[in-house]
Amino acid sequence: MDLKTIDQTYIANTYARFPVEIVSGKGSEVFDETGKRYIDLTSGIGVTAFGVADEEWVKAVTEQLCKVQHMSNLFYTAPDAMLAQMLCERTGMKKVFFANSGAEANECAIKVARKYAAETKGADTYTILTLVNSFHGRTLATLSATGQEHYHELFQPLVPGFVHTPANDLEALKAAAKEHKLAAVMLECVQGEGGVVPLEPEFVKGAAALCKENDIVLIIDEVQTGNGRTGTLYAYQQFGIQPDLVSTAKGLGGGLPLGACLMGEKVQDVLKPGDHGSTYGGNPVACAGALNVLSRIDDQLLKEVQEKSQYLIDVFSAADGIESVTGMGLMLGLKTKKDAKEILAACREKGVLALTAKDKIRLLPALNIPMELVKEAAAVIIDACK
Ligand SMILES: *Cc1c(COP(=O)(O)O)cnc(C)c1O
Repeated sequence: MDLKTIDQTYIANTYARFPVEIVSGKGSEVFDETGKRYIDLTSGIGVTAFGVADEEWVKAVTEQLCKVQHMSNLFYTAPDAMLAQMLCERTGMKKVFFANSGAEANECAIKVARKYAAETKGADTYTILTLVNSFHGRTLATLSATGQEHYHELFQPLVPGFVHTPANDLEALKAAAKEHKLAAVMLECVQGEGGVVPLEPEFVKGAAALCKENDIVLIIDEVQTGNGRTGTLYAYQQFGIQPDLVSTAKGLGGGLPLGACLMGEKVQDVLKPGDHGSTYGGNPVACAGALNVLSRIDDQLLKEVQEKSQYLIDVFSAADGIESVTGMGLMLGLKTKKDAKEILAACREKGVLALTAKDKIRLLPALNIPMELVKEAAAVIIDACK
């Protein structure tokens, strides 16, 4: 059997894979089994922050791998402690819980918010408000948090205690806060899976103010937008707000499974021993990789992310066949006249890999993608959109 047949026979049928097998890569260039080269604008859905097989990251990971790969959270190890310190120092958050994925980071945030609300307001205050068209993960609680009906249909009953209001509708959010006893409001600053839709700054500020006035926990889901993706370390930093909880994952580990829930002053001591945990969470190898990733997301790199973003926005905005460009930093969505899936197929043919989000083309290149590759790939996409 060839690889595609083995995969289709034995792997659960949950992914509509592109018809491409990737066998190796370097940075933002990857190669299939025939040696064909592709420029990668997917970075593993925003995970390989510095591209594939990045030398510095590989060195950091292998050094830790050869020292100790796992000890459990019953012992002290240095990489998770150092990473938590770096995350707190760069955000003003106070404590970190490490998980292994975005969904798990959100699970932690949901549990912290519920416990805080139960302790301060009583056990009947547990409802978490999220937005219509949001995406927060695939576990039952995070699926229930996700404001997209089509993900819910086959998995009833969902976890109770989630309500959804439309993005950028502050009045609807205020009305829901009166109607329900809200424990938390949870937002993505740019809805990623929902179609790369940034929230309006006034809405985000208004939601944050409402949370502050009513002692409602503000959770910002930075699983996709975090770790330099939008041109600042975290996207919320461009909205002039200070969340109580920030969940992140994807780019943080640079390619190894790692999620984190950052806790602000108000909720830093909510979790006590036994309240939450994870066998793998804060794994030393994943954290050693993340330390390398995070230490390289400095002002210079963020400036380059913003410059490449501006270049792409400019050339795509001027292109025939592209109706709109949305997003922030190197998280961009293109609304095209032609069908997005057909455009992606034409791009693959010409050696460029990109993603979709709803009916848009979604670009999530590595943060350090060289400008020559940005230009080369943009020309291919523009041509395919004509
Ligand atoms: C990808 C994503 C998640 C889920 O992350 P997993 O690592 O797949 O569990 C949650 N929230 C947002 C905003 C995401 O983009």
